[in-house]
Amino acid sequence: MERQTLQRAREAFFSGRARPLEFRVQQLHALQKMLTEKENEISTALKQDLNRSQYDTPLLELIGIENEIKLAVEKLSDWAAPRSVEKNLLTLSDEVYIQPEPLGLVLIIGAWNYPWALTLLPLVGAIAAGNAAVVKPSELSECSSLLLRALLPRYLDKDLYPVVTGGAAETQELLKQKFDHIFYTGSSSVGKLVMEAAARHLTPVTLELGGKSPCYIDKNCDITTACRRITWGKLTNCGQTCIAPDYVLCESVVQSRVLEEIKKSIKEFYTDNPKVSDDYGRIVSQRHFKRLMGLMEGSTVAFGGDVDESQLYIGPTVLEGVTSESRVMKEEIFGPLLPIITVDGVEEAIQFINDREKPLVLYVFSYDKKLIKRMLAETSSGALLANDCLVHFIDSALPFGGVGHSGMGRYRGRHSFDLLSNLRSCLIKQLHLERVNSMRYPPHNSRRLGW
Ligand code: NAD
Repeated sequence: MERQTLQRAREAFFSGRARPLEFRVQQLHALQKMLTEKENEISTALKQDLNRSQYDTPLLELIGIENEIKLAVEKLSDWAAPRSVEKNLLTLSDEVYIQPEPLGLVLIIGAWNYPWALTLLPLVGAIAAGNAAVVKPSELSECSSLLLRALLPRYLDKDLYPVVTGGAAETQELLKQKFDHIFYTGSSSVGKLVMEAAARHLTPVTLELGGKSPCYIDKNCDITTACRRITWGKLTNCGQTCIAPDYVLCESVVQSRVLEEIKKSIKEFYTDNPKVSDDYGRIVSQRHFKRLMGLMEGSTVAFGGDVDESQLYIGPTVLEGVTSESRVMKEEIFGPLLPIITVDGVEEAIQFINDREKPLVLYVFSYDKKLIKRMLAETSSGALLANDCLVHFIDSALPFGGVGHSGMGRYRGRHSFDLLSNLRSCLIKQLHLERVNSMRYPPHNSRRLGW
C-alpha cells in the first residue's frame, strides 16, 4: 500500500506538474485555504492531543505556517530564478549561473509536540522548491495526524503530497524506500536510525533534533523580566518544546530572586492552580509522564511538584539542589521541570555548557552586551538568543536548526527552498574560440605552449 503511495508520488513528480511556479503558488494558496477553513478542527485536535488552548493554536502553530506560505508565494520567482555568479577570465564570454531545480521525492517525518508546524513548515519548502513530498506525522499526536491525513488530500494534489500515518514500525518501513531527501524532526536517538537508513540510499538528511538548551541569567540583568520570559518559554506546551530552556544557570547570589520571580510568573500566568487553567497543557503520553517523574528523583522540589497521572498532569516545577550528576541533567527534560544550577559566574557557566553536547539554543539574559558576545564567542549552539525565549523560531530570515547532537541542516523561508533544491551549477560555453583552448590539449611541448 505504502509502496503504491510512494510510486504514485514519484510518478506524479516525473509527470512534471509540480515544476511550474504557478502550480507551486496555487498549491501554497490551497494550503493556506485549508488552515483558514479548518482552524477550528485543528484547534480541537490539538486540545485532544495536548490540551492546547484555543488561543495557542494560531499563536504556536498556524501563524508561523501562514507567514511561511506568504513569504514563499511572494519570493518564489526570485528564489527559483537562475542566480548569476561572478565571472573570471576563462568564463568572460560564457553564461555562468546556478539554477535551482527540484530534488524529487522528499520524506518529512514530524514530531508530536507541534504536529502542524513541524510537518507543514518543511512541506511549504518542499512545495516551493517543486518537489513531491510524503508527510509522516507522529502517532503520538493521533488526532492531529488523522486530521492532517484527512485534510491534506482535499486541498492539495493528493498524489504529489500524500500523508502516511503510523509509528516506529511504519516509519522504518518507509525508511527502507528511496527518497531524494529526508527531513526528520524528533529525538537524537531516532535521528541516528534515520541517518543510518538514509545512508543505504545515499539520501541527504536534515535532522531537527533536541537536547538540553541552557539558560544563563547574569546578575547584571532585569531579573523580573528575564524570569517572566523564561517561565513562558519553559511552560509553553507544558515544556514540550524543542527550544524550551532546559535548565537555568545563575550565581548563588541571585538564585533566591530567580526562584521567587519564576514562582510569581507561574502564578500570574496559570493561577495558584494550573491544573484548572485553560492555558496549561498536559504531557503527551503515559510513557513520557513516567519518564518525567523519574527525572525528578534525587532533586529537591523548590516549587510545584504536584502531579495527577489520570490526567497526565505535571504542574510547573522548579528543582533545586541539582548537580551534573542529577538524573534531570542526564537527558533532555521535555516537560515542565526547571532545574536551577548555581555557578560561580560566566566563566564557569561557559565551562558547564562546553562540557556537554552542543545545544539547539543557548539563552543568555544580561544587560551586558560584552558578556553576551563572550558567550557567543566561547560556546557553540544551533542558535543564541539573548534576553528572550523561543522567538527566534518566528523569524524566517534566521535559518533554524541544530549543530552536532542537536541536529544538522537548516530551514525556514529561503533556507528551506535552498535546502530542498539541487543548486545546479551551469556553465554554458560556445563552440567557437577553439584557439583559446589549444594550450590545454596535449602534447604539452614548448611549440604548442608557445602559440
Ligand atoms: P516522536 O516520538 O513523535 O518521534 C518523531 C518521529 O519519529 C515520529 O514521526 C515517529 O513516528 C518517528 N519514530 C519514532 N520512533 C521511531 C523509530 N524507532 N524508527 C523510525 N521512526 C521512529 O517524537 P520524539 O522523538 O519524542 O520528539 C521529541 C524530540 O524531538 C525532542 O528531543 C525534541 O527536542 C525534538 N524536537 C526537535 C525539534 C526541532 O525542530 N529541532 C522540534 C520538535 C521536537
